[in-house]
Amino acid sequence: MKVALVTGASSGIGEATAQELQKAGYTVYAAARRVRRMEGLAAKGVRVLEMDVTDDGSMTEGVKKIIAETGRIDVLVNNAGYGSYGAVEDVPLDEARYQFEVNVFGLARLVQLVSPHMREAGRGRIINVSSIGGRIYEPLGAWYHSTKFAVEGLSDSLRLELKPFGVDVVVIQPGGIKTEWGGIAVENLEKTSGGGAYAEQVKQLAGFFSQMDRASEPKVIADVIVKAAEARRPRTRYAA
Ligand code: NDP
Repeated sequence: MKVALVTGASSGIGEATAQELQKAGYTVYAAARRVRRMEGLAAKGVRVLEMDVTDDGSMTEGVKKIIAETGRIDVLVNNAGYGSYGAVEDVPLDEARYQFEVNVFGLARLVQLVSPHMREAGRGRIINVSSIGGRIYEPLGAWYHSTKFAVEGLSDSLRLELKPFGVDVVVIQPGGIKTEWGGIAVENLEKTSGGGAYAEQVKQLAGFFSQMDRASEPKVIADVIVKAAEARRPRTRYAA
């Protein structure tokens, strides 16, 4: 049976993806920090890993466990991520660095841990969740967009590196999806730039994000990810 590892599986897109991959017949490992939030998945037979993508030890142990139990990883879905918003002059650089740790370096570390197994098997698929924000940009989103543009560039180079070994690299670019992402982004935005010189821009962007309640359900993207995992010849990018 094919094996998939999905990060950021305690809510939103990752949770829905773990569920849909399992329905598609994969043995699925769901990874996140909040293990209790993955009890619903565990009850459905998904295997749960406590993993913080900023903690090397938890990623190393998680991958080791999957290989020990199954001997393979066919699909890696690098989905964990969040949006830290605010004016460039207001966002503390430590926060910007942390966002890179989660959205870019966590993804890259998992690639380092998983791709040798895929390479040796001569097959595998790495699916990196970027964003429409990896193609376009908006004010007060400089650091989030920077992380997603980095995911795009890293994925494009990686695709060329791994192609000779039969490993595909696919980028997913979700548009607005109804998850915890919007609330976290607004909270960060207001904490960082609310009430200051950028208050008017903050109001506009927060208003836009609050409409995400009416956005698509996470299953829409989960279905796209399953399609990308299963396609005989996957596209380089899927937007939805
Ligand atoms: P959610 O906030 O619902 O889910 C984010 C997931 O990432 C959670 O499961 C969270 O798990 C995990 N995560 C965050 N930080 C860490 C960390 N340090 N280590 C491990 N896991 C972490 O948001 P979405 O489902 O919307 O987001 C999934 C991906 O989709 C993100 O990369 C996001 O940028 C991208 N995206 C989302 C869009 C949207 O409109 N919702 C649009 C475009 C892209 P836990 O806290 O338990 O660790």
